[in-house]
Amino acid sequence: MPATLFDIPQPAVPVAGASALYPVRRIFCVGRNYAGHAREMGSDPSREPPFYFTKPADALVPGGGGIPYPPGTANLHHEVELVVALSTPVFRATPEQAAKAVFGHAIGLDMTRRDLQFAARDKGRPWCLGKAFEFSAPITPITPGSDPMLSGAITLAVNGEVRQRGDLSDMIWSVPEVIAHLSQYYHLGRGDLIFTGTPEGVGPVTAGDQLVGRIAGLDELTVTILAEGS
Ligand code: MN
Repeated sequence: MPATLFDIPQPAVPVAGASALYPVRRIFCVGRNYAGHAREMGSDPSREPPFYFTKPADALVPGGGGIPYPPGTANLHHEVELVVALSTPVFRATPEQAAKAVFGHAIGLDMTRRDLQFAARDKGRPWCLGKAFEFSAPITPITPGSDPMLSGAITLAVNGEVRQRGDLSDMIWSVPEVIAHLSQYYHLGRGDLIFTGTPEGVGPVTAGDQLVGRIAGLDELTVTILAEGS
């Protein structure tokens, strides 16, 4: 194969208890997967099929830490989410088959330029500017294990005050169901992350805010919002 013109870093996420990194190919995100959040976004949380958007792999901020306030927005929101990392091929799978493709779990933040997302949504346009931007996907190291995380508290605190509080059992579509559904459309597998949706309580953050995401059984995620342009 010919050499490439230049090298580009391979996005990767640390794995808890291991020295090798998990290399990331794609990031899929589920929209409105908790009834409370669907309602606060103005939707009916009926069990219609899940829908998706994506982020580029280089939006990841492994381990969290400082992220700059992004350009072009006046309404940056936090969305804390359970993230699943896949490790084996899965295509047109049943939920039972899909569950076996899970390599491990992490906590992620689906940072959102809500003003740009809503402007696009209201005109029926894609969400890219609102969702798929630099530093928009802080993530903890991946905790290996394929046992489905079907319940457990999920919270996000801003400056020590809990703003989002839910339970993984509140998901409209469980993780195995999400993987199975997405696998009807993609050959999923190694290097694919899925952000599985956020509970209610999303809201704006500003420079100087500290965000702490927690899910029972996983490392906590701490992110600090830095000044724009930093
Ligand atoms: Mn989200």
